Amino acid sequence: KRYTNMLMITGGAGFIGANFVKDWLAQYDEPVLNLDKLTYAGNLSSLAALQGDTRHVFVKGDIADRSLVRQLLSRHRPRAVLNFAAESHVDRSIHGPQAFVDTNVTGTFQLLESVRDYWSELSRQEQQAFRFLHVSTDEVFGSLYPTEPAFTEVHPYRPNSPYSASKAASDHLVRAWHHTYGLPVLTTHCSNNYGPYQFPEKLIPLMILNALSGKALPLYGDGQQVRDWLYVKDHCAALRRVLEAGSPGETYNIGGCSERTNLQVATTLCTLLDTLCPRAEGGSYAAQITFVKDRPGHDRRYAIDASRLESELGWKPAETFESGLCKTVNWYLAHQAWVDDVTSGSYRHWVTQHYGEG
Ligand code: NAD
Repeated sequence: KRYTNMLMITGGAGFIGANFVKDWLAQYDEPVLNLDKLTYAGNLSSLAALQGDTRHVFVKGDIADRSLVRQLLSRHRPRAVLNFAAESHVDRSIHGPQAFVDTNVTGTFQLLESVRDYWSELSRQEQQAFRFLHVSTDEVFGSLYPTEPAFTEVHPYRPNSPYSASKAASDHLVRAWHHTYGLPVLTTHCSNNYGPYQFPEKLIPLMILNALSGKALPLYGDGQQVRDWLYVKDHCAALRRVLEAGSPGETYNIGGCSERTNLQVATTLCTLLDTLCPRAEGGSYAAQITFVKDRPGHDRRYAIDASRLESELGWKPAETFESGLCKTVNWYLAHQAWVDDVTSGSYRHWVTQHYGEG
């Protein structure tokens, strides 16, 4: 039983997964099997442009459902599995960590076991060529002081939030499945992404949409928390490169070389919006910035050193923070229907109609 030229993507209806699937199919004919549970963060309207494209096979389901995943792997026989599926929002992890352990830890474990089972049936040559790419975050490394050097791939793990702890746990499982069972895995640690199709609970889309609807632009604490920012399409390009040329068992940092405080992000966005979409009442959107009580355990600074990916695999981001942000703001301005869909929940109704509640 040979494997086929097909990728299996988990979480491909989420922000980064949907961008990846679309970018992949725009460049290659190789089909994609997309398994997504369609939680509040999964949105099929992000993939609407692929309707009728037979290279995209969507299945609603949970990565923890071993019999479903095993069945899908046997039927479609992908040459690689890319795991984007996760609970991904830090604030939600503080209020309800259970789903984070269920999907990020147990779900990744179950997925690894399903994949190991499938992989063990491939020929020796196919086993060597197979890849399990685990999409992780820089947040597993914890917080940096202002003068500390950026995280490299060998930085110790020091996760501080339930989200980052659950992602760290999943990274360890992935690593162990390589060292113990020989599964050819790749793990990536990427900084904060922004761009089209990001659910408006995350900082950048929240700020854009709140600004335009005259609401407050909330910043935690003093707004001086530092993050590195990467345009989502640059992340997708990095993942394609790691999939193609990364060495099994290795980890790769992905970042934009764009450290900004949250306050800088907000003011840059306001300046962009002031030009693209001036406030009816005049003045700058910056007047809407409001400081709110800080998040418990809020990491002060993340910074990522992505030089390994550049020197070994030749990847560099195409966008600067400013150019990527400009594209993002223009995208949100031009896609009001998508925004209405995710904010009104009407797509949920569509999903229930087409795929049921389960
Ligand atoms: P997202 O929350 O937008 O999307 C997650 C997707 O996973 C959703 O479509 C959801 O329905 C699906 N999902 C959740 N639980 C599932 C399950 N049990 N089975 C199948 N599907 C399930 O997240 P995102 O921002 O696109 O992030 C994707 C991955 O990248 C995550 O693993 C995240 O940790 C990682 N990451 C994100 C960022 C970022 O800035 N967004 C940065 C670095 C790494």
